[in-house]
Amino acid sequence: RNTGERHSYDVVVVGAGGAGLRAAIAAHDAGARTAIVCKSLLGKAHTVMAEGGIAAAMGNAWPEDNWKVHFRDTMRGGKMLNNWRMAQLHAQEAPDRVLELEEWGALFDRTNDGLISQRDFGGHRYARLAHVGDRTGLEMIRTLQQRAVALGIDVFMECTITEILKDGDRVAGAFGYWRESGRLITFEAPSVVLATGGIGKSFKVTSNSWEYTGDGHALAVRAGASLINMEFVQFHPTGMVWPPSVRGILVTESVRGDGGVLKNSEGRRFMFDYIPDFFKAETADSIEEADRWYTDKKNNRRPPELLPRDEVARAINSEVKAGRGTPHGGIYLDIASRRDPEYIMRRLPSMYHQFKELADVDITKEPMEIGPTCHYVMGGVEVDPDTAVSIVPGLYAAGEVAGGMHGSNRLGGNSLSDLLVFGRRAGLNAAYYAARTHDAPVTVDEDAVVAAADAALAPFSEEGGENPYSVQKDLQEVMHTLVGIIRTAEELEQALGEIEKLAERSRHLTVEGNRQYNPGWHLAIDLQNMLWVSECIAKAALTRTESRGGHTRDDYPMTDQDWGTKNIVLRRHDDSVELAIQPLPQMPAELKALFEEK
Ligand code: FAD
Repeated sequence: RNTGERHSYDVVVVGAGGAGLRAAIAAHDAGARTAIVCKSLLGKAHTVMAEGGIAAAMGNAWPEDNWKVHFRDTMRGGKMLNNWRMAQLHAQEAPDRVLELEEWGALFDRTNDGLISQRDFGGHRYARLAHVGDRTGLEMIRTLQQRAVALGIDVFMECTITEILKDGDRVAGAFGYWRESGRLITFEAPSVVLATGGIGKSFKVTSNSWEYTGDGHALAVRAGASLINMEFVQFHPTGMVWPPSVRGILVTESVRGDGGVLKNSEGRRFMFDYIPDFFKAETADSIEEADRWYTDKKNNRRPPELLPRDEVARAINSEVKAGRGTPHGGIYLDIASRRDPEYIMRRLPSMYHQFKELADVDITKEPMEIGPTCHYVMGGVEVDPDTAVSIVPGLYAAGEVAGGMHGSNRLGGNSLSDLLVFGRRAGLNAAYYAARTHDAPVTVDEDAVVAAADAALAPFSEEGGENPYSVQKDLQEVMHTLVGIIRTAEELEQALGEIEKLAERSRHLTVEGNRQYNPGWHLAIDLQNMLWVSECIAKAALTRTESRGGHTRDDYPMTDQDWGTKNIVLRRHDDSVELAIQPLPQMPAELKALFEEK
């Protein structure tokens, strides 16, 4: 078998979103021969779609803000299931990472005194999202990409990694193929950083793009790494619902941060009916107080529309279920009646265009119809908080593919900061580790390369098998209806049965045509990853018999203190995954004390 070209590096970074680019820059700066491999064109990663901003307690809008408040908000938002050390490092280092981005050329919106402007977002006590209009991700990618290219880091774009290669227990490289030519490619490297983003494409309605098939999650698990928090999937409360072709596309939380409110078909601001005890002390309980907050944040509490995402998504779900939804099964998000057109156009230019072009709705004049959409996975590769290494020596993970940082629910804006903080840490440590392997270099196992090549090309040898598109469609339906926002044991068990059947069907896929740019073949490969990930989510969701953050069980509607001290960890067992329950790392007393302060 011809297994194609070979390349040798110290560090191979899989993914060119914020996490991958930041990791590659750090690895390069630490002296490692570094490559970036990405499945789409450089600059097209998910990160580019991020709208709202980067959360960092810089204290520009509120001098009272500092890392301790940000840490506390993050932990509370994650319902205390976050890895405390990751949340601490994240809150402490985010401001420096934002300033560094500015040094490298990012142009943030500014306050009247010339500081980086910070905007309000759900779950953050103070306005703390550094932003560029509603196009923050674009600016972040532009800046990081320019820097990576200027440093001369090698980039392999439109190149998909399908397997991590090992030398015994250690990482030895990665195997993949060029999407355009279908030719195979092997990377030899002691360190691989996974920065592949999320898993949204396993669900029917999602804000994620075609790339987010959970490749990194599946690559990690197949390579022997562990995944945690997989039951926690974030459904963003506000995705477009109409027309069907754009269902799921994100409507940024900034609409609510800038004054937009949620109303049901009776015109009621229903979020006041859904304020949980946990957030009562810091949430306005009358329309008057909520409205005053926009101009006087010191003396008023936040509107309930800005509760964490899981709370708002569940409330919308309940309203629609109770028959108070919009004609297309959503809820109204209204900024038109609350802010003048000039303000809306200045603060939310992309949203204006998105609705005008895709739905023929003028958001300066009419309300938007919105509903929950699968947005983000809190679960991911279990990593050491300080170094981002997984339990497999040489395998690192950062960004959305890593788990632990966000616990059971991520706060808006905390992903972009996570990418920068842990992307840098992963890149640095991957480079240090690679340097330490120089005395005992790794060797790629040739049989493993041939096996990876055979697995990638298998769909070409099967005749009369299944069409990958129909298996994907069925999987998305299963995940949407049985593993979605509200879950029950019965439905999750049913889902696991269905996933097993789909996995069996996926072993007999047939693709038409040849290896040159063949989307059916690409999907046949991605589908295997989607199935691994879906099994992990459903298994963990069935095991966690409580409701918390991005995991709601209709049959266990309460948060259970006992589960609040436990993580569910998944590891490979033959062609499936096995699950273990692991205690949460204990937070030191000085950090615990922060939760007693007002
Ligand atoms: P990504 O940016 O998703 O990049 C993944 C990279 O991995 C890509 O380059 C891809 O090509 C590559 N890749 C994947 N699989 C493979 C493979 N098998 N082989 C090779 N390459 C591969 N977060 C915030 O903090 N603030 C916001 O305002 C915000 N807004 C958002 C708006 C939208 C519409 C969406 C969808 C998300 C938003 N998020 C926001 C979330 C945030 O954007 C993502 O969590 C984050 O960008 C993920 O970054 P990442 O670097 O982990 O991965």
